[in-house]
Amino acid sequence: MSEVKWIKLVTEFFDDEKIKLIEAMPEADMVLVIWIKLLTLAGKKNMNGYIFLTKNIPYTDEMLATIFNRPVNTIRLALDIFKKFKMINYDNNGILQMSNWEKHQNIEGLDKIKKANRIRQQRYKEQHLLEMNQDLSICPYCGESAKLTIDHIIPLSKGGKDEVNNKILCCLKCNQSKTNRDLDIFLNARIKMNEPVNINAITHNKKLMNFLEYKDNKFRRVIITPINTTDKIRVDKNRIEQIRLDKKKKYNDAVFLTQNEYNKLITELGESSTAEYIERLSLYIRSQGKEKKYKSHYATILAWNRKDLKGGKNNGTGKGYNNRYNKGPEKEGIDKYKHLEEIIQN
Ligand SMILES: [Zn+2]
Repeated sequence: MSEVKWIKLVTEFFDDEKIKLIEAMPEADMVLVIWIKLLTLAGKKNMNGYIFLTKNIPYTDEMLATIFNRPVNTIRLALDIFKKFKMINYDNNGILQMSNWEKHQNIEGLDKIKKANRIRQQRYKEQHLLEMNQDLSICPYCGESAKLTIDHIIPLSKGGKDEVNNKILCCLKCNQSKTNRDLDIFLNARIKMNEPVNINAITHNKKLMNFLEYKDNKFRRVIITPINTTDKIRVDKNRIEQIRLDKKKKYNDAVFLTQNEYNKLITELGESSTAEYIERLSLYIRSQGKEKKYKSHYATILAWNRKDLKGGKNNGTGKGYNNRYNKGPEKEGIDKYKHLEEIIQN
């Protein structure tokens, strides 16, 4: 705890019975100075009247003699008197404590420290709020001015991370009513039920709109790539378009190729060879039920073509297909393709 700069000394200090008894002693002045020194030290320590070097290490008489700049014998004499008068006591660890410390404790000073701590915490909270790029008092969901609480935009229970990008400050009401629902579901339910929802504020909130799209009075969740890489939360439109292009088309009932892959095959193998390879692969897949084992039909066709070229067989076009399909993979045995399967699966 921080230091309290002053302690209380009641104006009746010298009227106290114990002090009077001490004053009757020959060493009175010496002893009283030690008493004042002890009180101020306890005030500095500000640990409920305990006086110690560090926790569990009591001051020895010699240490106190050094600190108080008095002979160790004086210290011992004074401490004996204080102990006898129950002005001090020692705990089980031998740590000295001022009895009735509350009489001397500076409550106002303590309050000041508490207040300072509160202000520090408030400042920390505000700093935190600024970090979150947020208005300090308005709930972004309902627009109410209220005490704000931390909400995880993607709930922790759904894989959301406990980091600034996934945190927003909202009012307690919103936080409690959102529970662990997805943001879009929560907001759409509010719109539907005519409950408070601040659409304008939400659509202008960059952080929230990382997770949302708004159209036709409805919120839609933006597709989130692996949920814990918040850097790439928003899947941009180009990527979505790419996904559409990458969507595979079915050829010959069993072979799946993207438009790009198909075009590349045509360029590399020629149209008729491509058609033949597709047919061959389709037949093979259907006869073997291996559909799921091939990661890429495109790669399979290329691997087959390479194998055919290596075997020195040529279809006359220089593009590799030797019409082996006519013999059929069944006739040649499945083993022939074992290594290909391995290549493809790895
Ligand atoms: Zn709210």
